[in-house]
Amino acid sequence: MNNGVDIAENLKTIKDTLPDGVRLVAVSKYHPIEELQTAYDAGQRIFGESHEQELAKKQVALPKDIEWHFIGHLQTNKVKYIAPYIHSIDAVDTLKLLREINKHAAKHNRIINVLLELHIAEETTKYGFSLGDCRALLDTGEWREMKNIRICGLMMMASNVDDEQQIRREFNTAADFFDEIKEKYFADNDAFRERSWGMSDDYRIAIQCRSTMVRIGTSIFGEREY
Ligand SMILES: *Cc1c(COP(=O)(O)O)cnc(C)c1O
Repeated sequence: MNNGVDIAENLKTIKDTLPDGVRLVAVSKYHPIEELQTAYDAGQRIFGESHEQELAKKQVALPKDIEWHFIGHLQTNKVKYIAPYIHSIDAVDTLKLLREINKHAAKHNRIINVLLELHIAEETTKYGFSLGDCRALLDTGEWREMKNIRICGLMMMASNVDDEQQIRREFNTAADFFDEIKEKYFADNDAFRERSWGMSDDYRIAIQCRSTMVRIGTSIFGEREY
């Protein structure tokens, strides 16, 4: 227990509602190491962070079988710091970043999983590819030559609004787009299968819209203190 937040109980409650085939990324950004340890002790192994330095401190302090996902905007000059250990970079939004990840993964003789981030939400401040730009990136074919990355699917955030129909529309747009590019570029590639959408406020809708990977912070750890 921590400020009245029972992390183990929250995890259990959420996991009980997730259908088979939907995995949980515990978004632990801004939460202290002890709280991550509590989640780990309750069985959680996938954690999401969005700041390179904060992640570095946590990665050295916590058990090595944690699967770390970088879920925030990643600057190309920060890739080298996380390349030795990051499992997945979930918000790739430029070809330049993809190249950089491939380069540094190769230096460490690793394959790093990535998700391509889509921008579908109405907010202009959010990162990510438009659907057209994502098609254009895949059309270049350059990614096929990148032997040290594995494109595992798509990630997106819905608009931060109360209108459930709008949120649902945005998730469905992403799900339809997933089908389109799966068929066109990844038909015989089993690794391409993730649809990462859904956060604390909208993951129940996201699951109905075929999410395979929800990213939940507040509902597990409580409010973040920035
Ligand atoms: C912070 C964050 C989350 C988790 O948000 P909550 O509302 O706390 O569940 C999910 N995805 C991304 C990309 C985030 O930055």
